[in-house]
Amino acid sequence: MTEGHRIDPVDWDAFEADLHDITHRCVERLRAARDTPWIAPPADMADRVKITGAGQATGPLFDRVFTDIVPHATGNTHPRFYGWVHGTGTATGVAAEMVAATMNANMGGRDQGGAYVERAVIDWLHGVAGWPDGSGLMTSGTSQATILALSCARMRAFPQVRAKGLAGLPEMRVYIAKGGHSCVKKALEVMGHGADATHQVAAPNGVMDVEALRAAIAQDRAAGLHPLVVVGTVGSVNLGTYDDLNAVADVARDEDLWLHCDAAFGFWSRLADAPWRDLSAGIEQADSVAMDFHKWMAVPYAAGAVLIRDEDLHLKTFRERPEYLAAGGAGLAGGAWWATDYGLELSRGFTALKVWATVEGIGTKALGAQITDNCKQAAYMGELAEASDVLDLAAPVVSNLCVIRPARGKATDLAARLQIDGDAVFSTTMVEGVSCLRAAIVNHRTTRADVVASVAALGAAVRAVD
Ligand SMILES: *Cc1c(COP(=O)(O)O)cnc(C)c1O
Repeated sequence: MTEGHRIDPVDWDAFEADLHDITHRCVERLRAARDTPWIAPPADMADRVKITGAGQATGPLFDRVFTDIVPHATGNTHPRFYGWVHGTGTATGVAAEMVAATMNANMGGRDQGGAYVERAVIDWLHGVAGWPDGSGLMTSGTSQATILALSCARMRAFPQVRAKGLAGLPEMRVYIAKGGHSCVKKALEVMGHGADATHQVAAPNGVMDVEALRAAIAQDRAAGLHPLVVVGTVGSVNLGTYDDLNAVADVARDEDLWLHCDAAFGFWSRLADAPWRDLSAGIEQADSVAMDFHKWMAVPYAAGAVLIRDEDLHLKTFRERPEYLAAGGAGLAGGAWWATDYGLELSRGFTALKVWATVEGIGTKALGAQITDNCKQAAYMGELAEASDVLDLAAPVVSNLCVIRPARGKATDLAARLQIDGDAVFSTTMVEGVSCLRAAIVNHRTTRADVVASVAALGAAVRAVD
């Protein structure tokens, strides 16, 4: 093969024909989402995908992809998938991913159109959060966004941390409701504070007890610790509950703590109808917010974002420009807004395009209506569980989460049974020490009929337990 032709297709027409075929198979897969539940990987899956490095033409190569890989996805594209908090994906997102790969823009910085798209997404998020302005960055998800947010919080309190690390600093504490997400603990571990820097505040019915928060802060101060951040949970993974953010913000202000909101999926109830739209009232007082697009906004994985109120602080925390990254006035090295100044990554993909395309293409009204529907479906699932003689609702339905206690049988066995049979995907959790089935409905393909069928299948599985 001649120089310059090793990697690109030699025959572009043949490649285009292959790509049409691949596109067709992708669309068929989306169209048939209802017929493609999760299918466990076969015993020889590892052998099938083992790298030979031999090289293969596009047509047969993607035959392998569609035969050996595609069928064994997690199945979260299916209408009766409610496990964990998995987004469903959109057709618009599929198109945007292909275009983004075609552009192959490195979104770390430089003067390019994509930076304006990313900033447009961040600006729009400020509006949804009720912020007049602010800073922010797209991330791979809420876990990464949390590291960025907590780093800014620490920088505000201890500006010497970038040069000196943790040397000489007091032991810090970050407060989060019991049942809040483990990404906060992980962030504190990688930041060098250790898991013990997380203080889990009592949360009756899944909502942070603000008096217990005040007491914990006072106690920690008396013990010589430094209370740094309070995390408001905006949609808990276990129960779909929301902290009273206005009350939490009052404590943060009184105690001079940074208020971070973990709004991974719960942020999007702000697009829904009342009463769900008001669940996150008070988020406009936060210093930082983390959220995902790949859950309730159905943008294909992975896509999240962090919002930081104070842009100067955000830059102070992450900006690092050695000589090979110096900004130029004109040309590609120009451009005022370089994403790398706001986070950990230098090279990064054009995540913003699939988000921008989803919001612009589908529109906020349709997205909001979808979120409203999911909340209504969760409430309906709760009603059906309560009406069943073998099921019970384990906790009140607040948003899009419904947690069901079976009269007998182990929740993990029941969930596995339904998954293997292709009936429905619930995950499991513990509520007050009892193992339960959990549905987090962030699925735009789910219908009321799916909810009925899923609860019926679960009831039948419980009845089959002897
Ligand atoms: C999913 C989730 C996270 C973690 O987000 P990733 O995007 O998976 O990193 C954090 N908090 C809550 C409430 C979540 O639901």
